[in-house]
Amino acid sequence: MPIWFNARHWRALIAAAGALMLIAAAGNWAERRELQSKTDALRQAAAAHALGLRGLVEKHDFLPHAAARHPDVQELLRTPHDAALRARVNDYFTDLQTTTGAAALYLVDRAGLTLAASNWNLPSSFVGQSYRRRPYFEDAVQGRRGFFYGLGLTTGQSGLFIAEPVRSQGAILGVAVVKISLEPLQATWMHSADPVVLRDSHGIVFLSAVPDWLFHSIQPVSAADLQWVAEHGQYGSRERFDLLPWSVEPRRGTSGFVVHTAMRERNMDLLALDTPLPELGWTLTVTTDMKEVVQARQVALALTALAVALLLLGVLYWRLREKRFVEQRAARIELERRVEERTRDLQEAHAFRKAMEDSLLVGMRARDPDGKIIYVNPALCAMVGYSAEELLGRRPPYPYWHPDDLEKQARESDDALQGRAAPHGFESRIRHKDGHDVITMVYTAPLVDAQGVRRGWMSSVVDITAQKQAEARQRDQELRLQRSARLASVGEMASTLAHELNQPLMALSNFAVAARALATCGSSDMLAGTLDEIVGQSKRASEIVKRVRAFINPQRAHYESLRMQSVMTHAETLLKPELQRHGVALRLSLEDTTAQVRGDRILLEQVLANLIHNALHAMHDQPRHRRNIELTCRRIGQDLRVTVADQGPGIPGEQLEQVFVPFFTTKHDGLGLGLNICRTIVEAHGGCITVENRTGGGAAFSFTLPTIP
Ligand code: ADP
Repeated sequence: MPIWFNARHWRALIAAAGALMLIAAAGNWAERRELQSKTDALRQAAAAHALGLRGLVEKHDFLPHAAARHPDVQELLRTPHDAALRARVNDYFTDLQTTTGAAALYLVDRAGLTLAASNWNLPSSFVGQSYRRRPYFEDAVQGRRGFFYGLGLTTGQSGLFIAEPVRSQGAILGVAVVKISLEPLQATWMHSADPVVLRDSHGIVFLSAVPDWLFHSIQPVSAADLQWVAEHGQYGSRERFDLLPWSVEPRRGTSGFVVHTAMRERNMDLLALDTPLPELGWTLTVTTDMKEVVQARQVALALTALAVALLLLGVLYWRLREKRFVEQRAARIELERRVEERTRDLQEAHAFRKAMEDSLLVGMRARDPDGKIIYVNPALCAMVGYSAEELLGRRPPYPYWHPDDLEKQARESDDALQGRAAPHGFESRIRHKDGHDVITMVYTAPLVDAQGVRRGWMSSVVDITAQKQAEARQRDQELRLQRSARLASVGEMASTLAHELNQPLMALSNFAVAARALATCGSSDMLAGTLDEIVGQSKRASEIVKRVRAFINPQRAHYESLRMQSVMTHAETLLKPELQRHGVALRLSLEDTTAQVRGDRILLEQVLANLIHNALHAMHDQPRHRRNIELTCRRIGQDLRVTVADQGPGIPGEQLEQVFVPFFTTKHDGLGLGLNICRTIVEAHGGCITVENRTGGGAAFSFTLPTIP
């Protein structure tokens, strides 16, 4: 059995076998039914034919009997030469023959000689003929009833001979014979569509609707029978009786049989039924065409096949419908499941998005290309103080625009709607519904739908008010810190300051005492010189005080983004006259000109001016060719490093740490506050300042500043 032969194939095979069996059974049933009805019809036909035959025989049966009892007949046998009697008997016979329709009626004496006959006056008259060898005569002369079918010796025409002994007082005088012609019967058979055959006790057909079958036997005739037939001239001079051209096939369950034969060069199947006629010694065979049986079978086969095919088609259709129904149901369930899944996903996504939007601190606002607000999230509503209902559908100017910035807001809004919004966002001041200001950063990006089409603009709005306030606070704090630092330094310098101020004050006191003495003695020249000294010392004291105040209360810093390059070139410009006066060359070297720092331009210039000033003084005693200052700016990591390097004497190692201490100076007119102020400024900018001696001689002061990313 092949592997692919599965249960389905088995079912199909069984169904096919069942269908075939059903078709065959239907065919058989129809055939049997038709056969049965045919057989019944045959039986009726046979009965009718037998009745006809018997009727014919019985119709003439009494004739010889009646003739044998007629006195003239008996008398003629006694006196055969009585011509008048013979004539009377002849007339009697002729009269009987005419009345009954028999073929002939005649009287034979005991020797077999015919004495009188109904056809006495015809050329074929039996009178004078001897029928001694005829079987019916032999039987009758011996006292039995003679019964024989055969050809007439005189006429050559076949007929049924019935003979009756003529008795008188117990003696048999002769034999009265009637001949009946069966030809009219045969003629009626000829007209019937269904052949009828009559055969004798030897099996030889002597009456047939089909002429070809005449004098054929149904089975081989025995030699004794052949001899008997020849001796009695039953069928004339015929000595051979061929077998009927029949192929006989018995049928189970019925008394009939099937004959396969050929008629008019056409093969035929006939259903045949034998009816024995024992009183005549014959067998009557009636037949009928099997065509209708075959047709009934074929019709039944065709109808059943059609019905089975329709049934199969119905089953197939039903199964297909079932299958499609199951598939459709499965598809519908799958679809519903997907829809449910998708709905759940969407609900989850929606819930997630809503939770996200609600929890967002960033305000979201979507606008169509005309600027109409089509979406706001809760954070934006909270930021501006207006509800979503109040904002949706609004076009510029929006209710939260700051009244002082209306023009700027309109411009920024137009820019955003034109797609020209700053990619890094822009700062925007808005007015909360309750009246307070909110500082925001607004970032705008195109709003693109699922098909990739731009539907408007989405802005995220970040509240940076707190950040701004923190920055302001930070700035204040820084200033306060600087101030604290400076105040801390004041403590440090207080004693030094007292000492420093003490000198000019002592000098002032001394010079004042001297001036009073000189004023009393009248030396005006010396007095003037002394007063000059007093003025000079006063200025010095005043300068010390001024510097200290400036240190403690420097101008308020104004921080901005600036390029160090511009600060350096500006400082160079400011110091140019002084540099030239001292014959000093300043070389600028800028590595990174784009880097920006956040700082106070004036303060940073002050730092540079201070450092350059110190360098200039340090090189005062140097030959002119060594009076060079290098001002460089280099990027180191996230910082800018600015260096002022000179070719002066440098700083003794032990003083390297001290130069930044307030009031440390090696100059006779110095205050020693410059470097300390520089350090304070640099540190306020988030950097640090250092000094080192150069290898080729000279000092290098460097400070760092953090760059803006
Ligand atoms: P002042 O200039 O009033 O002395 P500073 O604080 O500016 O105060 O300087 C402190 C001291 O540092 C100076 O007196 C000097 O001795 C030393 N100094 C500053 N710059 C240089 C320099 N470029 N070369 C050598 N020494 C310097």
